[in-house]
Amino acid sequence: MSNFSIAIIGGGAAGMMSAASALEQGSNGDLSVCLFEKNAILGQKVLISGGGRCNVTTGIEDIKDVLKKYPRGSRFLSYSMYEFSPRKVYEWFESHGVPLKVESDKRVFPVSDNGQDVVNAFEQIFSSDDNAHRMNLALGRSIVDVIHDENNEYAFELISQNGEHFFSKKLILTTGGQAYRQTGSTGDGYAFAQKLGHTITQLGPSLNNFFVQESWAKNCAGVSLEKVVLTLTGSEKWKFVGDFVFTHKGVSGPAIFALSSYSAFDVVSIKSPLKLNIDFFPNEKEEILSKRFDDALAEHPKKMIINLVDMFLPRSLAIASFEATGIDGGKYTSRVSREERNKLVGFMKNASLTLIARGAGEEFVTAGGISTDEIDQKTMESKICRGLFFAGEIVNFDGFTGGFNLQASWATGKLAGISAFGK
Ligand SMILES: Cc1cc2nc3c(=O)[nH]c(=O)nc-3n(C[C@H](O)[C@H](O)[C@H](O)COP(=O)(O)OP(=O)(O)OC[C@H]3O[C@@H](n4cnc5c(N)ncnc54)[C@H](O)[C@@H]3O)c2cc1C
Repeated sequence: MSNFSIAIIGGGAAGMMSAASALEQGSNGDLSVCLFEKNAILGQKVLISGGGRCNVTTGIEDIKDVLKKYPRGSRFLSYSMYEFSPRKVYEWFESHGVPLKVESDKRVFPVSDNGQDVVNAFEQIFSSDDNAHRMNLALGRSIVDVIHDENNEYAFELISQNGEHFFSKKLILTTGGQAYRQTGSTGDGYAFAQKLGHTITQLGPSLNNFFVQESWAKNCAGVSLEKVVLTLTGSEKWKFVGDFVFTHKGVSGPAIFALSSYSAFDVVSIKSPLKLNIDFFPNEKEEILSKRFDDALAEHPKKMIINLVDMFLPRSLAIASFEATGIDGGKYTSRVSREERNKLVGFMKNASLTLIARGAGEEFVTAGGISTDEIDQKTMESKICRGLFFAGEIVNFDGFTGGFNLQASWATGKLAGISAFGK
């Protein structure tokens, strides 16, 4: 069969949820759904998300707080987020046989810590007795072209890589962004949407780590710090408080991901670096820290200065502070000049790093996408092409780490499936 009432291109989180929610609307005589996925399996990105554990959603319940986690698209997402809130997503998965747990940082995972259970829940819905006859899974089918003819009942024609033609009354585009391209999300949907009259906003990598120039930072690889204050200076100045880790090549962690998200459209290179400033003592004013450091100096005149700084910072960071400031760590504290001590306190309150590249191809999501001005946020239907719907990362919204991107895919996917069924 090659005629369907609803065709969905992209079997990731948004596509699977769109299909499931259309099926869950009950039976309207002619419902037939076909989910096209270029991979041989569903939910490739869901399977690798959260390090394979799949951070399904967030445990934050207040929707206003949830919406603050989206640097782009929060207003657009507001309706779908109330309709299918993190709490409802939680209950939906539990009712489909995936028990969940909320971790202390509010991230929600399957109790099994296995993302496969999330994909299995959809596979069970699709193959159930109620649905098997009206649900078609076209796996290993890459759609290479979409043609629209509004005069035809089957207004959408989809052409696969093998030259097969499929027809549908409604089309839901859920091809995702273009991050982690090896998962199949190569941005194909942008071209389809453009062809159907839509605008694609500027695209950029988001949720990435950065490479740094300074060798002292690389020597701190593995040091992780909680609730530091980071300030990033690029085309704007952004501040974020959160957890942070030094890596072999630079910096990473939730606070860095958030800053990468704010700066998604800034070019980062050796010629055009971003500046990162780190306050390792955000709860202590500089004068107070300075006084505490002076007191320690006076109390330990015979200590080597490195061993004194060691009382303030983790060992490898203490060593790094001498590389960064050019001060001899072997000096006795009594011989440390005022200028040197100012430099050391300056490092603790305002260490400076030069970000010279984003972790190439390692970003988690794509910022930008189909312009939200062109989509009805209450139905996910195109305002330009009737019968066309969008859901998931292909749309111009993106969130921080913590389950917010999957949550947005579930919420918009649910709405798209219901709307495509109902009209
Ligand atoms: C490593 C990693 C870890 C992540 N961890 C988390 C996490 O723990 N929590 C969280 O909230 N978010 C996480 N994210 C982000 C989240 O996974 C995505 O935002 C989300 O999966 C997007 O869902 P989607 O359905 O819109 O797109 P995708 O999941 O990208 O799905 C799109 C699908 O469309 C298919 N496709 C594309 N073009 C075609 C075509 N022409 N024909 C047929 N099929 C096509 C692709 O093969 C793909 O399967 C992570 C991302 C990455 C890369």
